[in-house]
Amino acid sequence: MEKFMCPHCHSEHIQKCSIVYQNGASQITTSNGEEVRIIGEGLTQLAQQVAPPAKKETHWGAMILCGGLAALFLTSGLFIVGVILGFIALSLYGSSDEAAKFNKEKYPILYNQWLNTYICNRCGNKFIL
Ligand SMILES: [Zn+2]
Repeated sequence: MEKFMCPHCHSEHIQKCSIVYQNGASQITTSNGEEVRIIGEGLTQLAQQVAPPAKKETHWGAMILCGGLAALFLTSGLFIVGVILGFIALSLYGSSDEAAKFNKEKYPILYNQWLNTYICNRCGNKFIL
């Protein structure tokens, strides 16, 4: 079995990011084994450090709305407005399609990596074991 230690400072006081995160990122253990509670800004910073990767947002609803409005304006004579809305709908389609691909293909990989990511309580180094 490989040794669980920080590759940077060789401390064995490491914790899984997912577990630190589930504990609300409110507790870490110092190198001499004491538990410390972190509050305020420290908590937000630690929570950010150990937070899982974020999914990308899709805007399918807004895209459908813009597309529908574009069709409405195009047929009602306000051609320019329709064209502008059409372009917005197209760009929303592009970004949502990209986000959906990321969430489907890349996100599970990043999430699995995160599950195996540890944080060192001594130097704050993050690494995958
Ligand atoms: Zn370390």
